[in-house]
Amino acid sequence: MSQSRVTDYGELTRARMSMSFPLRWVNSYMLPGEEGWTIVDPGPRSAENEAAWDEVLNELGFSYEEISSIVLTHHHPDHYGLAGWLQERSGAQVWMSKAASEAARRNWGGTEFQPEGSFDAATIDLYRRHGMGDDRLAQLPEHLSGFRTQIEPQPEITIIEPGLPIRFGGRLWRPIETGGHAEGHLSFYEEETGLILCGDAVLPRISPNISYSPGGDLHPLRSYLNGLRTLGALHVTQAFPGHRDPFKNFTERTEQLLEHHEQRLDRMEELLRSEPRSAYEICTTLFGTSLGIHQLRFALSETLAHLVELADRGRAYCNQEGDVITFGSLTVNQSP
Ligand SMILES: [Zn+2]
Ligand SMILES: [Zn+2]
Repeated sequence: MSQSRVTDYGELTRARMSMSFPLRWVNSYMLPGEEGWTIVDPGPRSAENEAAWDEVLNELGFSYEEISSIVLTHHHPDHYGLAGWLQERSGAQVWMSKAASEAARRNWGGTEFQPEGSFDAATIDLYRRHGMGDDRLAQLPEHLSGFRTQIEPQPEITIIEPGLPIRFGGRLWRPIETGGHAEGHLSFYEEETGLILCGDAVLPRISPNISYSPGGDLHPLRSYLNGLRTLGALHVTQAFPGHRDPFKNFTERTEQLLEHHEQRLDRMEELLRSEPRSAYEICTTLFGTSLGIHQLRFALSETLAHLVELADRGRAYCNQEGDVITFGSLTVNQSP
């Protein structure tokens, strides 16, 4: 890495935790407060990141016992993964939204939700019905179960009450729940200063993945676009995202992302005009056929999210014949 792992931004300190290509790193934020230190999104679990936390604490001069809370923006492994490990070492409370904690249980298994592995089976079934071929489907079980090592042990969660401000790092934050990228995703906004910890809700330079997944939000792109409008109305002076570097043009970035998704919707509608196609066909037309299974999964989930939105807007229809689902255009082709 060319940059050092730890950066001091004054209000808070960032530690970059390693993760797989193409994102390469996830930002963990550390804030000192009255009760002790708060860690926001500790990163995915790996031997490398465990060693990195030892180093970071050593560099900043505090011990695991001095961590009083771990705050999670959402349940994805790159943010949530090390929470249980860090909780074991610190005894800290782990905070997240109710919807995010339910998504974690649904995806990673456990207790009163779905038995372990059933999310994986439902994902494979979903992709099969949307046109993914057997060769690609065969790669999914190993890919999906591969996340487990990044999220174990799972933390004991304390729910953040919706609508109530939460105090950590010596500041009073308003949690703002937005969907589309992940159920129950929270951003934390300090009204007084305009600081926001925005997780993966808004990222600089990259468009956060919109995910249609089994048991989750049935209209994820709709949720995401609504969330962008909510977030874009805030007076943000400095945004601390889950990936890449902190940035200031927060509202402008929400507008760019809104525009990006409208363009993508137009492009997909255009592709449906010639003939009905499966989500998988649309996905490979847009993103190519050489994606690795990890990238392909994100691309297909996002394609599905867009196709569902087109159908919601009355610009496409969805047809199921037997086990196979296709989408078609509902707009009349004016060309002769
Ligand atoms: Zn995420
Ligand atoms: Zn992320």
